[in-house]
Amino acid sequence: MELELAAPTPVESIVIEGKHFYLKRDDLIHPDFSGNKARKFHHWLRADLPRIKRVVSYGSVQSNAMYSLSVLAKMRGWEFHYYVDHIPGYLREHPVGNYRAALENGAVFNEKIEMRNEKFGEETLFVEEGGRQPEAEEGIALLAGEISQWQRENGIEKLTVFLPSGTGTTALYLNKSFSTLNTQRSDLTTKVVTVPCVGDARYLRKQFAMLEPDEDLWPRIVDLPRKYHFGKLYREFYQLWLELYRQTGVVFDLLYDPKGWQTLLQYREDLDGALLYLHQGGLKGNESMLPRYRRKFPDLEKENCGEK
Ligand SMILES: *Cc1c(COP(=O)(O)O)cnc(C)c1O
Repeated sequence: MELELAAPTPVESIVIEGKHFYLKRDDLIHPDFSGNKARKFHHWLRADLPRIKRVVSYGSVQSNAMYSLSVLAKMRGWEFHYYVDHIPGYLREHPVGNYRAALENGAVFNEKIEMRNEKFGEETLFVEEGGRQPEAEEGIALLAGEISQWQRENGIEKLTVFLPSGTGTTALYLNKSFSTLNTQRSDLTTKVVTVPCVGDARYLRKQFAMLEPDEDLWPRIVDLPRKYHFGKLYREFYQLWLELYRQTGVVFDLLYDPKGWQTLLQYREDLDGALLYLHQGGLKGNESMLPRYRRKFPDLEKENCGEK
């Protein structure tokens, strides 16, 4: 596997429902990484770690972070051990999506084992769920630098960068980087706005607090009035996802982006300056989400997109 990242990633202009947005195509950063995971794991892609023989992490069985860690481990010649609560019997029999790709990369799954009781030695690199770690700042700062340079080249004084959050690591470190940049280049300002997709705003603030005690450095959080559960299927999400493809030709992810775009379209008038949406990849996850959506809402399916 190739270690090189296609950075800087391109920025495109798109129009959705008659509104103009810039789109940062971090989904194109690497064919085998989910976009923002290539940023979050950048440090470990490069770092000199002669002692490490394996990576250990935990989380959901279809996580984008899990898949990307399996890629990282394969690239670096490490083992990858991943802890999950439960692997559904059907998935075990018929592997699909991130789970299947991680298996193909040699991931070893440990089910229903209390990971916290295990002892990991110095040969093990332990990565928090979703890559919520201080090491993520390094790669995300590079992303902020790319956006900042693009902003200068295009003479955009005020820019809002919008992205949907899981652990919030990407949004937090991006905003932190821009806070520093804003003081260094006083003619340009850049701010980050995000929407929680996994829990609510309170959950997201807790995630921020684990990485950064200074609340002034946290991104602004906006949310929709209605509560959505992560990973559940919603008719309006699928409809919007299909509509985004129809209007832009871009395939977005089905877990985070529908809520991201729905929120952004609702808050557009409330946000400052030009708007840049960060496409964070995650398309491998569509391989499991799309069949579920198709089965649930067969009437919406008029065209096939997102299939390789
Ligand atoms: C992981 C992921 C996110 C969430 O990133 P966080 O840094 O955890 O907030 C958003 N979108 C996609 C496609 C992802 O893979």
